[in-house]
Amino acid sequence: MQVAQEVRTRVYKFGDKAADGNSKMKNLLGGKGANLAEMSAIGIPVPPGFTITTAVCTEYNESGKETVVEMIKTEVEEAIANVESIMGTSYGDPENPLLISVRSGARVSMPGMMDTVLNLGLNDAVVKGLVAKTGNERFAWDSYRRFIQMYGGVVLGMKPESKEDIDPFEEIMEHLKEKRGIELDTEFTIQDLKDLVYDFKDAVKKQTDHSFPTDPWEQLWGAVMAVFESWNGARAIYYRNMNGYPADWGTAVNVQAMVYGNMGENSGTGVCFTRDAGTGENVFNGEYLINAQGEDVVAGVRTPQQITNLGSKRWAELAKVSEDDRAENYPSLEELMPSIYKELHGYQNTLENHYCDMQDMEFTIEDGKLWILQTRNGKRTGAAMVKIAMDLLKEGMIDEKEALLRIEPNKLDELLHPVFDPMAIKRATIITRGLPASPGAATGQIVFFADEANKYRNTILTRIETSPEDLEGMNLAKGILTARGGMTSHAAVVARGMGKCCISGAGALKINYKTRTLTVDDKEYHEGDWISLNGSTGNVIEGKVATREPELSGEFGEVMKLTDKYATMDVRTNADTPKDARIARSFGAMGIGLTRTEHMFFEVDRIKAMREMILADTVKGRKQALQELLPMQRSDFEGIFEAMQGLPVTVRLLDPPLHEFVPHQLATQKELAEDMHISLGAVKNKIAELHEFNPMLGHRGCRLGNTYPEITEMQTRAIIEAALNLTEKGIDAKPEIMVPLVGTLNEFIEQEKIIRETANKVFKEYGATVEYLVGTMIEIPRAALMADVIAAHADFFSFGTNDLTQMTFGYSRDDSSKFLPIYLEKGILKVDPFEVLDQEGVGQLIKMGTERGRKAKPNLKVGICGEHGGEPSSVEFCYNTDMNYVSCSPFRVPIARLASAQAALKAER
Ligand code: ADP
Ligand code: MG
Ligand code: MG
Repeated sequence: MQVAQEVRTRVYKFGDKAADGNSKMKNLLGGKGANLAEMSAIGIPVPPGFTITTAVCTEYNESGKETVVEMIKTEVEEAIANVESIMGTSYGDPENPLLISVRSGARVSMPGMMDTVLNLGLNDAVVKGLVAKTGNERFAWDSYRRFIQMYGGVVLGMKPESKEDIDPFEEIMEHLKEKRGIELDTEFTIQDLKDLVYDFKDAVKKQTDHSFPTDPWEQLWGAVMAVFESWNGARAIYYRNMNGYPADWGTAVNVQAMVYGNMGENSGTGVCFTRDAGTGENVFNGEYLINAQGEDVVAGVRTPQQITNLGSKRWAELAKVSEDDRAENYPSLEELMPSIYKELHGYQNTLENHYCDMQDMEFTIEDGKLWILQTRNGKRTGAAMVKIAMDLLKEGMIDEKEALLRIEPNKLDELLHPVFDPMAIKRATIITRGLPASPGAATGQIVFFADEANKYRNTILTRIETSPEDLEGMNLAKGILTARGGMTSHAAVVARGMGKCCISGAGALKINYKTRTLTVDDKEYHEGDWISLNGSTGNVIEGKVATREPELSGEFGEVMKLTDKYATMDVRTNADTPKDARIARSFGAMGIGLTRTEHMFFEVDRIKAMREMILADTVKGRKQALQELLPMQRSDFEGIFEAMQGLPVTVRLLDPPLHEFVPHQLATQKELAEDMHISLGAVKNKIAELHEFNPMLGHRGCRLGNTYPEITEMQTRAIIEAALNLTEKGIDAKPEIMVPLVGTLNEFIEQEKIIRETANKVFKEYGATVEYLVGTMIEIPRAALMADVIAAHADFFSFGTNDLTQMTFGYSRDDSSKFLPIYLEKGILKVDPFEVLDQEGVGQLIKMGTERGRKAKPNLKVGICGEHGGEPSSVEFCYNTDMNYVSCSPFRVPIARLASAQAALKAER
């Protein structure tokens, strides 16, 4: 009998219209590998190769190089043989050499975060064979020098020594260019290239103490391991953390036959998008370079040309290039190689239809033959994300549900940021114009180095070009400006992914890192000077420019309408002022989940009365001060009720510790003493009395209302009177009075009694009534445990997850900055529980609280009003806990609405 044995495949082949894998296998093959397999299988011309799985990366992390090589050696050798037989060449054979690339590729695309090496297999003998075979000496030596340069950087760790320095290989090239009086890489003679190879190898020997490896297999294993290694490099880790990708995903390695874009004028390489990644417009676009290889287009060293005629004309207009100059020196691919263009256009159509999404593709033309090297769902700005989803819906490629699921809730945030005020823009002084690489508005102070992006509060990272090392700084900066590079440069692609405003290729800028200056014509700007970027037009503007609030219009508005069709859980807002309430309404809030009454007391004219109330020694004194506060509170509530037009408004009674209201400066203390006709000493004594060792756990929340019932009385009166006044004006008001920080039933019952008695009194005085609810926050773990008992009395629950998180973890929100960042860095915590709801722990209390509460009162209204109410994964959790609503800050309302709809759709699937 045969014993079934699990044989794990670690290497997946693709090429020649066939493949072992497919696009669904992204977790195992990485995004790049899965799509290479898929493209190969559907007949797109992809150079043959194979993918070493992400599982092997994990094995590498556990057991290291030797073991892994032993484990996959046979499979890799077989796969290379397969490539050799398809290509009719042989790896390491000087007579008929096969060259390969070794490319990283995790399950999600992380542009430039990990490493890729091209032209492996070259050495002094093979380069001669390549010359003989192709008859193209220049190409062979150019490939060789590129190989040493990339391999040196990626595998042998040849990096610049300080940030002001350039790459050691670039430095050698710069020297030679100077000596030879040339500017471009393409101007090197064959002898120059040979000299470069010699000098590069020499530099490697000097810096690493080892000769450059000549054995092609040693080169291959070195590169494969370097890719695995790069998964744990600083850049990749930062990118993973930024996006919340776990470390155990690992990266796959793709090994692929080289095709050469650097074989001469009939060759080239480029990047293209099936739609505009900045605006979402449905136009094919991209950039290419003739006689170039790999990263040349993205590296921003040469100015790339546009693929389409339309794009080329648009570009020329922005770059102020005349039509003659354009047609002569920067023709589009459509003009220069019409048949290749037609073929490429066909593939972009096929691929977009195949994947039903915007594709970002890489291609290479080798001596008149087109090869596709990569396709993926393109990164895009928030605006493009929304437009593309709605366009694909209208084009019938996807349905409404899919369109909603295509939109990342958090990315909507970009559309909710201020835009430049059109009037202010008209008056602005334009310094220069670059490419509108990533739309948006940014104002900030100039910095020149990524690691100084937090030198000021708002910075514009200004660079000749950016590289993957700059990621963290790009994320911190408000906007990014580069002198070089096109629409597909590193800066542009990464900025669009982050939704960060970016202008690239502003060629008139002269940037000097050493003097930290930026010069345009005769004008000089220094580090720290203010500039503004309009990422939608490419204008670089002097100084600060005023901004304006965004609105929900066009496709964004359509998306929001769709969310209403599918969402079953409401979204309310946390708003303390009529203004916030109106903004939230315009974003579609269905009520207010939290009005913090204390914020109203901090305004100048009120804080005095509030302080007098706090410092009063007698009930009578307190009542007097409260009497002054009553009309102010009432008018606040009237404003909010009016803004909400009959939608429910949850008002929380006074919550924070009283000492937050008292003055801590001597001058103000003196003033207060005079106003109250008491001595400064008495004021000081009272303030000292209010001091608490642990204010978060001290005299606050309903403990205030229970010790000073007159506060609850006054607030209830203000709420009920406001509601009655509005009803008289014909405007509905639906107050929901919320008691904070309840831990025991009696704490609630006592407050409820005061509220109901006061309301009845007001009803009698007015000779009229309104409907109102009395409920409680559930924010102390004990309240969640006792939820059934409390629910028997409360009309509603609102989970205050800020306090609930604080008390469940035992982390003081006010002090956590001392340890939380370290916990996150060390991985002790995966995410900040104050940002993303801890579903595992705190979530249990929420589930239990809701279930127990509803057991006692089946129609108990349940919501959440902590910061988590606007965080998509937490919103989904709330939906699954069967809450009636989530509540979040006004600007997160659209995000929560989408998250709510998505939660319903996901549950349905
Ligand atoms: P990234 O993930 O950073 O885009 P890639 O693995 O896609 O890195 O490779 C970097 C560059 O090298 C790309 O421009 C790609 O098209 C090019 N390249 C990779 N493999 C080959 C190959 N076999 N032949 C020609 N060009 C290649
Ligand atoms: Mg790529
Ligand atoms: Mg609280």
